[in-house]
Amino acid sequence: MSAEIVDGRAVSAAVRERIKKAAEGMDVKPGLAVVIVGDDPASHVYVRNKKRGCEEVGFRSWVYELPENIREEELLSLIDKLNAESDVHGILVQLPLPDHINEETVTERIAPEKDVDAFSSYNAGRLFKGEPGLIPCTPHGIMVMLEHYGISVRGKRCVVVGRSNIVGKPVAQLLLAADGTVTVCHSKTKDLASVTRDADILVCAVGKANFITADMVKPGAVVIDVGMNRNEEGKLCGDVDFAHVANTASYITPVPGGVGPMTISMLLENTLLAAGNIMKNEQR
Ligand code: NAP
Repeated sequence: MSAEIVDGRAVSAAVRERIKKAAEGMDVKPGLAVVIVGDDPASHVYVRNKKRGCEEVGFRSWVYELPENIREEELLSLIDKLNAESDVHGILVQLPLPDHINEETVTERIAPEKDVDAFSSYNAGRLFKGEPGLIPCTPHGIMVMLEHYGISVRGKRCVVVGRSNIVGKPVAQLLLAADGTVTVCHSKTKDLASVTRDADILVCAVGKANFITADMVKPGAVVIDVGMNRNEEGKLCGDVDFAHVANTASYITPVPGGVGPMTISMLLENTLLAAGNIMKNEQR
């Protein structure tokens, strides 16, 4: 193996340490409200980890567990209540929601300044325009990892495979804002391997195990694997054929232990930022 393994757990720990210190110096305790609907076990694990993350950095947190059959209006009125609550600086509704609830309506109902997942049109628009705002957590975590390892994006050829609103598109915007030359690929891209082989920095967010093979990677490339899949043995794995790509890449993120641990840390970062912004606005 020649690639350096990017240790997302270590970077995440450093980020949380910094957040904890910053929170200690604030006049109010940042507070995060998490809303979960139904009893999907994976979603409950994510929510528990978010609550634990808050405790670790000294934030307040509240978890609202709502039944699967709750009406959309009831969920929206809880969001309205949390929007108006001065102790709550960040609001997150755990996705996916049951089919009878419109995710778009719910996401857009969260006050933009408390939208710590940054999925709203307001925050997506700020990111598109290169204006400061809340940034989606997983893409932001990728940028923080690159910076931590001293990997400059400026002038590099960056290829993002995947164009979802929560990973592919925002990470492409962030790489562009960092002066990368960015190409975004998707399921209709022709001759994908010829595009990915051009990448100095390759980000893969597809959701298919072993999708990126060594022949698709330029020797010396930085490979960021966002995928979270289960292989045939039921083991968690990414989109990249790690064992072989690690012989070609210069840096590679493992799964687990790469991008994943960064996501909750960046949620905490957004909550800290939201608390600071809300306090500043109240003092005006
Ligand atoms: P998604 O919404 O399903 O998007 C997948 C993207 O992959 C789509 O843009 C799709 O193209 C593209 N794609 C599918 N097949 C392809 C192919 N053969 N060639 C090229 N592109 C192809 O998924 P997502 O929400 O972005 O998530 C992607 C992965 O990241 C999943 O495994 C997810 O679990 C993981 N994830 C991890 C974290 C974390 O914290 N580590 C956070 C979020 C997501 P089209 O647009 O053309 O359909």
